[in-house]
Amino acid sequence: MSFDRLRSPVRFLQQVGIPADQDWLREYEAWFEDEGQGISDAVDRAGTPWLRMFDRFGARVDEILYPPEYWRMLKHGYRAGVLWRAFERNSDQNPEPNSLLSAYLLLYVTGFYDPGLACPYTVSLSTVSPLLKYGDAELKARFLPRMLQRDDSVWQGATWMTEIKGGSDLGAAVETVAQRDGNKWRLTGDKYFASNAGAELAVVAARQEGAPQNVRGLSLYLVPRRAEDGQLNYQIRRLKDKIATRSVPTGEIELRRSEAWLLGKAEHGIYLILEVLNLSRVANCMGSVALAQRAIADAYSFAQGRTAFGKPISEHPLLRRQFEDRWHGLRAASRLAWEAVHLLDRVWQEKPPYSERYHLFRLVAHLAKYWTAEFAVQTAKWAMEVYGGVGTLQEYRVERWLREAMILAIWEGTSHRQMLDGLEVMQRKGAHRLLFQHLAGKASEAQLREMEARVERQLGLPEVEREGTLEKLFGDLASFTAEALLQTR
Ligand SMILES: Cc1cc2nc3c(=O)[nH]c(=O)nc-3n(C[C@H](O)[C@H](O)[C@H](O)COP(=O)(O)OP(=O)(O)OC[C@H]3O[C@@H](n4cnc5c(N)ncnc54)[C@H](O)[C@@H]3O)c2cc1C
Repeated sequence: MSFDRLRSPVRFLQQVGIPADQDWLREYEAWFEDEGQGISDAVDRAGTPWLRMFDRFGARVDEILYPPEYWRMLKHGYRAGVLWRAFERNSDQNPEPNSLLSAYLLLYVTGFYDPGLACPYTVSLSTVSPLLKYGDAELKARFLPRMLQRDDSVWQGATWMTEIKGGSDLGAAVETVAQRDGNKWRLTGDKYFASNAGAELAVVAARQEGAPQNVRGLSLYLVPRRAEDGQLNYQIRRLKDKIATRSVPTGEIELRRSEAWLLGKAEHGIYLILEVLNLSRVANCMGSVALAQRAIADAYSFAQGRTAFGKPISEHPLLRRQFEDRWHGLRAASRLAWEAVHLLDRVWQEKPPYSERYHLFRLVAHLAKYWTAEFAVQTAKWAMEVYGGVGTLQEYRVERWLREAMILAIWEGTSHRQMLDGLEVMQRKGAHRLLFQHLAGKASEAQLREMEARVERQLGLPEVEREGTLEKLFGDLASFTAEALLQTR
């Protein structure tokens, strides 16, 4: 085992069998080593950016003020191709299905240096995808080219669902109303947690007047920052002062008869919202694994240089064993996360009704989001302990990884949500049976049968017990899947 390889996200990816030897990826990593990491650290230390709501004439402008270096860092990822590489081939000349792999490779490298910065790229990806799949020709012609620019004129996306009453139970909590206005819609409501506030284009969950007060009543809309007449189409009430992910401005958004376009069929809204979340949950897996890799790498560098009881602490048996365990856990988490990417790549263009492969993907994505985020939090906490007391000081970067990891476990649906959604896809779609078929040959017959029997027993429990005792089973299923996948490359 070579911990030196952990210093480089690209080398680690290659080591675990991910095709990551592209020049553009290596150049992206090199840029972070030379410049990006310094900018990212400064942004984290500076805290919440300033929101300038009015210009000097008193007109509402809602500009987010970061230092100029921030915008350079942000635009660097777009130029490197986090959007255009995945989607540029979708044209009449080349109608081949696109691969999202390039985007997830870039997200992995971004997450190694700045997990918060991966957010603007992810939500932009999650905006382009429904636009591409569900937008009509006119909408696509108007917005797609802006999102796929290769230079600094690129437009950013955003995905705004959560309101003040909460993000887990969207069916009950979304109060934003959609009213028809000719061929478009007008949205009125407030979004309470809105990352990439200021984005030029957002996908937004709302409820049409008279639609049911549950998840079936939700639909998905495209909302540009500027209306057709050039006026601001939504306003930013304030920015959130967060413990981490400071490289993405998260704010509260006011929609006041904001111009919007319906995506897909209104009654399919919840499916479209889940499709958006699919992309960002898998991106979250990239951020979580990359962060864990980074935390282990930093802890190892520190442990080599820190002496106690006559030798570097990395050489004491207790710590050496912990490093080996973390290394194994990292490889397993990485395998699970990349399985989610590969499955997503095969199903992201599907529309309802979905194939069995889509349900398999959903279960793997819930397992992976849950498992990798928990692994990131535990690994970041452990890495901080390896540093001892100095690990709690801001001047050592390791405390930042713990702050960032805490958010990875909450946004894009908490760990509870992943477990409950995973349970649902097993109950309603039999996704666990698809998973065990998928794992055939990667674990022994007996192990597969035993795990399947445990899942079936859980599903057969009365509801309160089924949910109440879910965590152990779900964790074991995630770990089992990761270990099985690790057996084959
Ligand atoms: C930095 C940051 C940026 C964000 N950006 C965005 C964004 O851009 N767009 C967006 O739409 N949202 C965004 N969010 C919101 C995020 O998606 C929500 O925080 C998340 O979905 C959880 O919702 P909540 O915070 O309202 O918690 P709640 O839904 O109020 O839940 C509170 C707790 O109860 C638990 N819980 C709820 N229901 C159950 C149940 N049935 N069983 C067991 N436990 C349950 C939850 O898991 C959680 O632990 C962001 C959040 C953060 C922290």
